Amino acid sequence: MKIKTIIIFLTTFTAFASFKLTNKRDLTTKYPLISKSKFKRIAKTFEKEFMDFSNEKNEDLLVYADWNDPSADMALARRWETAQILIFRGLAHRREIDPDALMLILCHELGHLYGGYPLKRESDEIAAEGQADYFATKYCIKRALLLIDNKNINQRIRNAIHSVGNFLANNWGHQLPSLKTPSTIIQDQTIMDHPTPQCRFDTFFAGLTDQERPRCWFKE
Ligand SMILES: [Zn+2]
Repeated sequence: MKIKTIIIFLTTFTAFASFKLTNKRDLTTKYPLISKSKFKRIAKTFEKEFMDFSNEKNEDLLVYADWNDPSADMALARRWETAQILIFRGLAHRREIDPDALMLILCHELGHLYGGYPLKRESDEIAAEGQADYFATKYCIKRALLLIDNKNINQRIRNAIHSVGNFLANNWGHQLPSLKTPSTIIQDQTIMDHPTPQCRFDTFFAGLTDQERPRCWFKE
């Protein structure tokens, strides 16, 4: 039954991987930094917490932690009246990712499902990458981190943004994003695919601090 579930997931999911580099060996640990039980628990508590979004759309939210797949990846789908998020074990082996950062990654996936316009896919209402990031820090991350505990929430949100920003930059072979080096890109139309790691970092902070969506991906 379990294997069947996994096969269904893998064959029908749309992966939104943003990797451009393949040499990430020194960033990947042999043993997981987040234990299997913790990894699975994070997925389950996240699923329970955010059912209000899926209920409003008359669908079920399913968050699945795959401990077999070694890729540091995540995926999502909407079908059969379910909204599904999948995270892969490789994330638990990456030095940049702690439980708080994993929550931000889950929030990004939730943003694809409930972040609204602009959409990267109209047919199943999947929000654009930048919109998923914006939603993640505007509506999700605080609630998500409270599921772990309520200590130093504001600092932990910032740390999670830095952690995920570093993870994305390392995947692309870019320099680590910083508040001191905001993206200078100005798009003349909205881009639906992955913005640069610095632009995504800027978008996380824009969502957190209630600013406009950055021009490095969004055009009114
Ligand atoms: Zn995405």
